[in-house]
Amino acid sequence: MSSETLSSATDVKNLVHPYTNLGDHLNKGPMIIERGEGVYIYDNHGKRYLEGMSGLWCTSLGFSEERLVNAAIEQFKKLPYYHLFNSRSNTPAIELSEKLLEIAPKSLAKVLYANSGSEANDAAVKLVWFYHNALGKPAKKKIISRLRGYHGVTVASGSLTGLPANHQFFDLPIDRILHTDCPSYYHGANPGESEEAFTQRLINNLEQLILKEGPDTVGAFIAEPVMGAGGVIVPPKGYFEGVQKILKKYNILFIVDEVICGFGRTGNMFGSDTFNLQPDIMSVAKALSSSYLPISATLISQPIYEKIAEQSDEVGVFAHGVTYSGHPICAAVALETLKIYQDKNIVSHVQEVAPYFLSKLHSLSAHPLVGETRGIGLIGAIELTQDKASKKPFDPSVKIEKLVQENAAKHGVLVRGIRNAIALCPPLIITKEQIDELFNGVEAGLNAAL
Ligand code: PLP
Repeated sequence: MSSETLSSATDVKNLVHPYTNLGDHLNKGPMIIERGEGVYIYDNHGKRYLEGMSGLWCTSLGFSEERLVNAAIEQFKKLPYYHLFNSRSNTPAIELSEKLLEIAPKSLAKVLYANSGSEANDAAVKLVWFYHNALGKPAKKKIISRLRGYHGVTVASGSLTGLPANHQFFDLPIDRILHTDCPSYYHGANPGESEEAFTQRLINNLEQLILKEGPDTVGAFIAEPVMGAGGVIVPPKGYFEGVQKILKKYNILFIVDEVICGFGRTGNMFGSDTFNLQPDIMSVAKALSSSYLPISATLISQPIYEKIAEQSDEVGVFAHGVTYSGHPICAAVALETLKIYQDKNIVSHVQEVAPYFLSKLHSLSAHPLVGETRGIGLIGAIELTQDKASKKPFDPSVKIEKLVQENAAKHGVLVRGIRNAIALCPPLIITKEQIDELFNGVEAGLNAAL
């Protein structure tokens, strides 16, 4: 048996793969990726793919950034581990917090580290609860999320996620978590409804939900600036302006989940900058370290921090944090990532190539299988349809998005099929020539699915 066949068999024998149809996996086995170079990865047969999804929306600097490797090695040699409990600290964690707050929305003042986006959002939920308890408002605990929103998989963040597969059989969502509309005009507009009217209807629905539940019971609202895993939903004009007015009116905290949008993806440093959001709490992960090592953070405003600090004094300790909060190697790599964004002027690069990316994306709207193309910055999606006029989606049993995904892969391009759509989220370092290559693969994938 070749070593490739052997490792494939061992994978099937041993591993539970996340977000995988486990039955299919038993038959098909894994795709084993062995190395990476720039925006490309290579499988164990030596086949090269352009990674049109940056892995899981995350390797913003591609797969071979030497400076990140060196930052990790240097820190490994100096101090491979230390924690932040009981006032202990380490230099990379300190320096990273300074750099993060320098670029973050001005409403934010403090940084709490964890390892993953799920944990960062979980912490956000706990902080909202802790804060309202500290304020003497123990009833103000419900958190409103959105259908199709994606915020992770832990018990709390999985509850915030508004996708059926994350709830079914897991006994989620937990109580106190509610879901309001997804701001997709394509999917949610009534016949003949203008985009403006659609947006206003969603804002009214949010207000009605708050009034029905009782404003004194609603503690926070959470949103991704652009929904990612829900199908790359770019909000309509005026949506967040209206939402923020309602949140202010009822004194409800705004948690902005920047796990995908953070660090340049939408054409500004944060999605909050693109959509003029003023978060009370913000979560970041993924591109924080270009995903070379796991690290995430929950950023909070000064008023929230002060109340929490005051209360922790009374309790004796702020009893939250994980062994790896502020891990020095992860923090050193994240710090170097932020420096690279600055040195390469990554936001300007995104602003330069994004119009080209978006024009290639939108040119696919003429394709017979395409109902809508949508995107902003370097993130986009292609919605597939059986019938452009009625927007009828394909029957899930057809697995049209998997067909396109697999055919694009045959042409050396990796994209992700989500429900009835194809998502694109290439490394931020992508060039215009590589964007051509990306869309040639996508188009070949679409044509093969005709
Ligand atoms: N929030 C958003 C917007 C995400 O896209 C994700 C993951 O894709 C998460 C949170 C969860 O992050 P993690 O998978 O690191 O737990």
